[in-house]
Amino acid sequence: MSHEKLRGFVSEIAQLVDSNLPEAHLLEKGAVALGKLIAEDDWLPDTYAQPSPDRYQQFLLYTDARQRFSVVSFVWGPGQQTPVHNHTVWGLVGILRGAEGARSYARNDDGALVTLGEDQLLERGAVAAVSPSIGDIHRVSNAFDDRVSISIHVYGANIGGISRHVYPADGPPKPFISGYTNDTLPNLWNLSKERLDS
Ligand code: FE
Repeated sequence: MSHEKLRGFVSEIAQLVDSNLPEAHLLEKGAVALGKLIAEDDWLPDTYAQPSPDRYQQFLLYTDARQRFSVVSFVWGPGQQTPVHNHTVWGLVGILRGAEGARSYARNDDGALVTLGEDQLLERGAVAAVSPSIGDIHRVSNAFDDRVSISIHVYGANIGGISRHVYPADGPPKPFISGYTNDTLPNLWNLSKERLDS
């Protein structure tokens, strides 16, 4: 499979990160790049599209050598959802396959969670943003209980390696580090092989 689309996307994001734009501009331009990547569902290798019956999967597709950004494939089995969680860095979520529900939260002065705005239904091709400056706490779920959904996420750090929080309904915030499902990444750089394959 050609990795040309994913390679093009990571190089666009690297350029945006290099240009030190204000976050709002970075998110705007990053959303355009992500929208382009997810416009066609023909580039994600099956290895990184496999659901698990136990929990949603987080496949790292790429991380910048300086951990300035990462690209992750989230694979949601029927009815699966995240706990309520934060990110601590900017992030963009684009729906590649299926659809997802997202509910945003804020913490009030007592630290209690309150829902923020309406629940969102993100359909195929939609892109949503999170960050500490625009709202960083949410819960994401597969909108379907009978099929897999997949979203492609890009974050302003090596998201699986950073310490952040989940917010249980019945207790204080709990620190967590999400990690990744996979040990090996797609090889985006085997250019001569791709030329032979095409
Ligand atoms: Fe999230």
